[in-house]
Amino acid sequence: QAFFKPISGAASPSSTKRHTKISVIGAGNVGMAIAQTILTQDLADELVLVDAKPEKLRGEMLDLQHAAAFLPRTKIIADVDYAVTHGSDLCIVTAGARQILGESRLNLLHRNVALFRNVIPPLAKYSPDTILLIVSNPVDILTYVAWKLSGFPSSRVVGSGTNLDSSRFRFLIADHLDVNAQDVQAYIVGEHGDSSVALWSSISVGGVPVLSFLDKQEIAYEKETLESIHKVVIDSAYEVISLKGYTSWAIGYSVAALAWSILRDQRKIHPVSVLAKGFYGVDGGDVFLSLPAQLGRGGVLGVTNVHLTDEETQRLRDSANTILEQQSQLGL
Ligand code: NAD
Repeated sequence: QAFFKPISGAASPSSTKRHTKISVIGAGNVGMAIAQTILTQDLADELVLVDAKPEKLRGEMLDLQHAAAFLPRTKIIADVDYAVTHGSDLCIVTAGARQILGESRLNLLHRNVALFRNVIPPLAKYSPDTILLIVSNPVDILTYVAWKLSGFPSSRVVGSGTNLDSSRFRFLIADHLDVNAQDVQAYIVGEHGDSSVALWSSISVGGVPVLSFLDKQEIAYEKETLESIHKVVIDSAYEVISLKGYTSWAIGYSVAALAWSILRDQRKIHPVSVLAKGFYGVDGGDVFLSLPAQLGRGGVLGVTNVHLTDEETQRLRDSANTILEQQSQLGL
């Protein structure tokens, strides 16, 4: 017996509102931070969690469901079976093997590629029109692997890439200048990792280009100071992991912002991992790395033509080659 007596002639919810479904694969620290941030943003009608560990998965599902009285209404479901992801608009992949003490990055990569062989094909099968958003590391190569395994057009496969690195960068610049990080436009592009490239030449605060402002005012700055800020960004993840064991909150907000831009068709520009071949002189092969890309309901809509200095362009190409070198050992 229904709690409410329906009003005759009332339209069914499905005919009045589009249903938005997001699946998060991997209910670990990162997946759960993303899930909880998405819930607070009223972005999905249905949120699905998938993980390989059924007890942990049910525990996380119940814990989130118990917050229903404080959140916008979202149906939360969880299962180890990928059938539950059926018809998702967006699938966010955070499942990943952890580095074992003494294990090489390459070995970890091989284990994560094997894991993706179990994750990506069922996602593509149950949601052939979905957009895949990859977060698991190494994110650039795994985004390439997801693109290959899904058979999707590259516009529907995107990696969170340097979106997080760029927000760390914006925080540091904002902190340095005592301004709001949201007023700082600054991109880190290339590999999400040690070979990332800071685009100093295009940094602006409130529309004022920072380096040319300093030049005009004849305010001296050392190149080493700039390099050291970039180094802090690169070391940030290692520092947080050494202190608390994992990173979660910033990646949660950063990925939820990408989900928002995609599902709400915001056409915002984010530095995210996209198929970079043909952009900024990257032409060595099919490589995913972060470029300032416009995101909307169709996925990756385009890549912005930011002016890069010759040195920045060269560093970006070097970053692409670093990724391609590792990728070539996968045999995909
Ligand atoms: P975690 O170990 O806490 O969680 C991983 C989860 O994946 C676990 O719950 C595990 O059970 C699950 N899993 C493993 N195999 C699975 C499978 N076949 N199917 C479904 N689920 C499976 O790790 P974490 O701290 O949440 O990190 C997750 C990933 O995100 C890692 O690869 C990490 O490096 C990456 N990460 C990326 C960024 C970024 O900016 N791109 C930032 C932080 C973390």
